[in-house]
Amino acid sequence: MSDVQTLQEKINYDKTFDCVQCGYCLPACPTYETMERETHSPRGRINLVKLVAEGKASIKDLQEPIEKCLGCMACTTVCPTNVQYGQILEGAKEVIEDHQVKSVWQKKTEDFLFESFFPSGKWMNTLGNLTWFYQRTGLQAFANLLSLTKLAPLHLDQFEQVIPVQPSPKERAKRAKRYMRKRPATAKVAFFTGCVMDSVFFETNQNTIELLLRSGLEVVLPEQQTCCGALHAHSGKINDSRELAKRNIEAFEEEKADYIVNNAGGCGARLIEYHHLFEEGTSWHERAKQFVSKVKDISEVLVEVDELEFTTPIDYTVTYQPSCHMTNVQGVKSPPLELIRKIPGITLKELDRPDFCCGSAGIYNIINYEESMDILDVKMKDVCRIDPGSIVTTNPGCLLQMKLGIEREKVSDGMEAVHLVDLLMEASPVARQDGPRQTPFQKGSE
Ligand code: SF4
Ligand code: SF4
Repeated sequence: MSDVQTLQEKINYDKTFDCVQCGYCLPACPTYETMERETHSPRGRINLVKLVAEGKASIKDLQEPIEKCLGCMACTTVCPTNVQYGQILEGAKEVIEDHQVKSVWQKKTEDFLFESFFPSGKWMNTLGNLTWFYQRTGLQAFANLLSLTKLAPLHLDQFEQVIPVQPSPKERAKRAKRYMRKRPATAKVAFFTGCVMDSVFFETNQNTIELLLRSGLEVVLPEQQTCCGALHAHSGKINDSRELAKRNIEAFEEEKADYIVNNAGGCGARLIEYHHLFEEGTSWHERAKQFVSKVKDISEVLVEVDELEFTTPIDYTVTYQPSCHMTNVQGVKSPPLELIRKIPGITLKELDRPDFCCGSAGIYNIINYEESMDILDVKMKDVCRIDPGSIVTTNPGCLLQMKLGIEREKVSDGMEAVHLVDLLMEASPVARQDGPRQTPFQKGSE
């Protein structure tokens, strides 16, 4: 195969012809709205991909517009010809990655992050424990007092402010791998814990296990599971993403569970697309399809099983910020809203533009901080119009981003961001089987 053919295949040239240039996607695209450039719209990006495949534009021309795409997939929900933008985007990222010249330092850092750090449960635990140490020993207060955090690169000082209080290493270590029920379980759930989710939002994961148990389900946490590979795919590292998919498929197959449940919109979107990583007709493609058929967001399972009782009224207004990957890729829209509406006393007010991305998009807000904050400011205008007590969301990235938005708007006295699972726990406060329960509403516990 010639170099041109290889490039055209990788970049999904044939799929670009599905775009009829109608422009219906333009109003749905957050980057087109905030950057006001055709090259930063879905149509413009698809055109650029086509031009690169035809040798009429360089890969360098493509790089910036593709890097500034959130991957929110809002464009795909309004496209009348069903353009497979996700595959075009992923192909473009892979080609850009293949042609990028990197310094030895950059390469080593990336190799460590993508090959060792994110896929390792041990590293993720260590990150959580180090954060706990930093928060609990006074180091954080000291660093903030001397404004040392401002020296951190990539605006990490902003994120440091919104990381939740971490549980102690002892508490992390207490977690079991299997949660059996005294009464026979109605179904078996294999819980996909996620990398960032399990590190930074460990308590939300614990609450997830608890809600599943209360719903009459048996819960297992397959030991060999690893990162879903979304961060790798977003960075054009498709081969790495494929390898992680294989490891997860193997780890979850062993358990023969009825459901593979996750609580992170971004991870779930990657998990349900595992079959696209393998050639049709191969055994891995078949195994991936089996895996995908069991993947569900926690909200879907809780609605389906319908066993939870919400006894504690929540007397404030909340709004729901959907995760783009959960709605636009997984197609999970109504279950979170159905669950929120079941909570007594709660007032749910919907955003004018819930489908407008919050600007988090994996690590977009770290790499493209300024652009991400422009998008977040649009979102926060919509939120502040409602002035809720809580912004409820279903993805770790969105959760941190909404916390950042609250800080930027200086409304943290009366508003917080919370994962749906933690809100449900607050409305259903029964002691957990594996120890004391913590929610974001019970801050400061060890
Ligand atoms: S809506 Fe679809 S077909 Fe129309 S310009 Fe956008 S991507 Fe192309
Ligand atoms: S994925 Fe989102 S940011 Fe990217 S082109 Fe589509 S709508 Fe725009």
